[in-house]
Amino acid sequence: MSLKIRNLAIIAHVDHGKTTLVDQLLQAGGTYRENQATTERAMDSMDLEREKGITIKAKNTAIHWEGYTINIVDTPGHADFGAEVERVMKMVDGVLLVVDASGGPQAQTRFVLRKAMQEGLKPIVVINKIDRPLATPEKVRDQVLELFLDLDADEEQFNAPFCYGSARDGYFMDEPDDERIDCIPLLKKIVEHIPAPKADPDAPFLMLVSNIEWDEYVGRVAVGKVLGGSVKKGDTVFLLRQDGTKVQSKVLKTFTYSGLATADSDGCGAGGIVGIAAGIEDIDIGQTIAGTAEQEPLPFVAIDPPTVSMQFSINDGPLAGKEGKHVTSRAIRDRLMRELKTNISITVEDTDTSGVFNVSARGAMQIAVLVEQMRREGFEVLVSRPVVIFRRDEQGKLLEPYETLYVEAPGDYTQGILKILMNRKGLMEHMDTEASGRVFIQATIPTRGLIGFETELVNLTSGHGIMSHLFKEYAPHAGEIQNRTTGTLVSMDAGTATPFSLQTLEDRGILFVAPGDAVYGGMLVGENPRVGDLPVNPVKEKHLDNMRSSGKDKTSKLTPALRFSLERAIEYIDADELVEATPLNIRLRKRILDANVRKRAQKTASGAEDRGNR
Ligand code: GDP
Repeated sequence: MSLKIRNLAIIAHVDHGKTTLVDQLLQAGGTYRENQATTERAMDSMDLEREKGITIKAKNTAIHWEGYTINIVDTPGHADFGAEVERVMKMVDGVLLVVDASGGPQAQTRFVLRKAMQEGLKPIVVINKIDRPLATPEKVRDQVLELFLDLDADEEQFNAPFCYGSARDGYFMDEPDDERIDCIPLLKKIVEHIPAPKADPDAPFLMLVSNIEWDEYVGRVAVGKVLGGSVKKGDTVFLLRQDGTKVQSKVLKTFTYSGLATADSDGCGAGGIVGIAAGIEDIDIGQTIAGTAEQEPLPFVAIDPPTVSMQFSINDGPLAGKEGKHVTSRAIRDRLMRELKTNISITVEDTDTSGVFNVSARGAMQIAVLVEQMRREGFEVLVSRPVVIFRRDEQGKLLEPYETLYVEAPGDYTQGILKILMNRKGLMEHMDTEASGRVFIQATIPTRGLIGFETELVNLTSGHGIMSHLFKEYAPHAGEIQNRTTGTLVSMDAGTATPFSLQTLEDRGILFVAPGDAVYGGMLVGENPRVGDLPVNPVKEKHLDNMRSSGKDKTSKLTPALRFSLERAIEYIDADELVEATPLNIRLRKRILDANVRKRAQKTASGAEDRGNR
C-alpha cells in the first residue's frame, strides 16, 4: 500500500515567489492560513531575508489535498546553514524548484539543488510569474535543463516534470500555452511524481530527530520523519542514545505542520513529519525515538559543533543610549537567553566580565542575523570580530576547526579564487569545469580563513561567485593567516564630522563617515591604506581665511562614505576593534577609546598576541 503522504523541500531564490506559491497551494487545498497572529512576526523575519537574499528561518507547511498530506519543508539559503540543508534533504523524497520566468535560475540556489541531486531526490520545476510581460518560460526551461546537466542530474532527474504558471494569479499548467485555470495541475504533478515516503505503518514507532523546535508550554520539540509505525499523545516512547542508554518517556504533545505554523495534532502516521514533545530536556538532533526499548538506534547524524564565537557587550561609547530602548546588560542577557531556546544554531555563555557574553555558532552569519534582529528590536550592543573556537589535543597541541568549502564561479575567476584560497590557507582538493564554463572548486580551509571570504569572493566575481561550507574536523593549527592589510583612520575628537575636515582626510584613504555624522574619540572614520592606526580630526571647522583663500566650496565633490553592512563590519574589524550596533547606526570603533590608554595596552599586548597566534 502506498502512503498518501508526500514530503518535499522547496528551493527558490528569494523573491521568485515561494511564499506566494505556498499560499496558493494552501488555498487550493482548502487550508488557508488561519493563524493571522503569526503573520506579523513572519513578515519581520522576511524583511531581513529579503535584504540578505536568503532564508533564515525555515517556514514549513502542510497542504491537504484529495486525502493527501503534502509536507513542504523550506530550505535555508546561506552558506552557514549547510548542515541544516543536509538534514532537510534526508527527510524528503522530492524537491520543488521555483524559478522566475524572467530572471531564470540564480546562482544562490545551486548548492541546495546540487545537494538534492546528490541525494537522488526527484525534482519538479515550477516556472513562476509567466503573467509578466518579460517572461520567457521556454528560455528559462532550457536554462534549468542546462543547470541540471551542470549538477550531474541522473536521467530521471533530467526528465523532471515542469509546470508553468503564476503564483500571484493562482494558476499552473503543464505547458505555457495551456488554458490558465487553477493550481490543481501542480498538485497533481506533486502527487504523481514525488515518491511516497518509505516507511512501514505496521512496524513499531521509529523516528530520527532531524531538528529541534521550541514550544512555550512543553519545551523542546523533536522534529523528524516517522520511519515506522505511528505516534500520538500519551504513547510511551524511548529515547535511544548512541551510547546504548535509554530514556523512557511519555509523549506530551505532537505537532504537525499546517498553514504557516506548527499546530497541535492528534498524532502522526508512518511517513509523516511530526514534532514530538516528550519532556526529555536534553533530546537532540541525531538521536532516535522508538516505540519499544528493544529497537536499535538509527545511524547517528552528527551535529556540527559551534566553531565561531563573538563577544556581545553593553554599549559603553559616548553615544550610548541615544537610539536604543534596551541597553542594559540585563536586557541583553535576557534577550540572548530567550534566543537560546528557539535557535538551535547558537550557544551563549556568561564571561568573567559582567555585561560581556560569548555567543557561539556555526558561522559568523548566524550570529550577525541575531545582532541584526536585536537592532531592529531596539537594542544597542557592541560586538567583536568573530574568533574561531580552538581546542587542544591530549598532547596539548593547538587544534583549530577546518571546513570543506565549495566555491562556484564563472571560469574566468579561477586564478583569483585560487589566490584567495592560498592566502587563507585553503587546500584545493577538487576542481571541475562545468559544460557552461563555470568552475566548481572544493577545498579544505581553516574556519579562520572563511571569515571575510564571502565578501572577497563577491568582490572578485562581481557577485557571480557563490560558496557554501560544511564543518570537517578539528586538526592542527595552520599557522598565521593575514587578516587585514590596511589600517584605520581613528578620530581623536568628538563632535560632528565637517565637510572641511573630511575633504582633507579623503586624501588619506576611504572614509566611513559623511558630513553631519556624529563621531567620537576612538571611532574609526576611515581606512588607512597602510597597516596601523592614523589619528585624525574629522570635526575641524573651516577658518574664515581658509574660506577666502580656497575660493570655491568643494563639498559637493566628497566621495560618498563607505557604509558597512553589519556582516561586512564584523568581518572587517580587527581584534582590538568593535562594531557598535544601534537601531539606526553601525559604527566601527577601537575597543579602548582613549588614545593614550590604547597605546599602552597595545605595547603590553603585542608580545602576548604573538605567542597566542602560534
Ligand atoms: P519569495 O521571496 O520567494 O517567498 O517570494 P514572494 O512569494 O514573497 O514573492 C515576491 C514578489 O513577487 C511579491 O511581490 C509577489 O507578489 C510577487 N509574485 C509572486 N508570484 C508572482 C507571479 O506569479 N507573478 C507576478 N507578477 N508576481 C509574483
